[in-house]
Amino acid sequence: MTTRRKLIAGNWKMNGLKADGIALAKGIADKLASASPDCDLLVCPPFTLIAPVADAVAGSRLAVGGQDCHAKTSGAHTGDTSPAMLADLGCKYAIVGHSERRTDHAETDSVVKAKAAAALAAGLVAIVCIGETLAQRDAGQTIEVNRSQINGSLPEGANAANTVIAYEPVWAIGTGRVATPAQAQEVHAAIRAELVKLIGAAEAGKMRILYGGSMKPDNARELLALPDVDGGLIGGAALKVADFWAIAESC
Ligand code: PGA
Repeated sequence: MTTRRKLIAGNWKMNGLKADGIALAKGIADKLASASPDCDLLVCPPFTLIAPVADAVAGSRLAVGGQDCHAKTSGAHTGDTSPAMLADLGCKYAIVGHSERRTDHAETDSVVKAKAAAALAAGLVAIVCIGETLAQRDAGQTIEVNRSQINGSLPEGANAANTVIAYEPVWAIGTGRVATPAQAQEVHAAIRAELVKLIGAAEAGKMRILYGGSMKPDNARELLALPDVDGGLIGGAALKVADFWAIAESC
């Protein structure tokens, strides 16, 4: 019997100008005002939209988060955003280690771990992303890669209240190719088993592990029903109120 409350998180990536972003967030917050899907809801807009989105949904049950953060609180880091800055705008979460960051910005596990630790220190919940590439899956390395990434990326002091894991097979992100329920459950269970070793059975049993990679309204119900899938990190389908809401209602 699990007591883990599901989390449906929208990762807007580099999408949205001000009017669209506010309308999207308000559309979700408005639905939340009159309905209570069985999950927590979060949107992670691009940095430019965090302030107007946070203002637009203030007082609602929709949480706001950042898509990344720096490992330091302040200083000479042109173009970066610290976890304290996110918290200052009302963010509750920060995604770290997304595969697009790992690829586009050469972020290693140790960088991701430092960012996650900084997020925790600022009072944010870190959403730590891991996942194998297609070549790694084809080479039979899926479990090993995810174990290694969780070992390398999980910050000191991680617990079920301050950290969420997102398993995102790289080959499923934005491709329309979703993991089968069996593939997702296998990796989620392996991640939880690794968490047992790292943080103990009690915290591992409570920690949320999200699935991400082409989760859509038509496949969400099946994935979200799996024993070790505790929500979704949604990209493309988070950009339309109706799609995001349909996924939330699948919980
Ligand atoms: P997708 O993206 O839902 O568009 O596949 C998920 C993610 O990268 O977080």
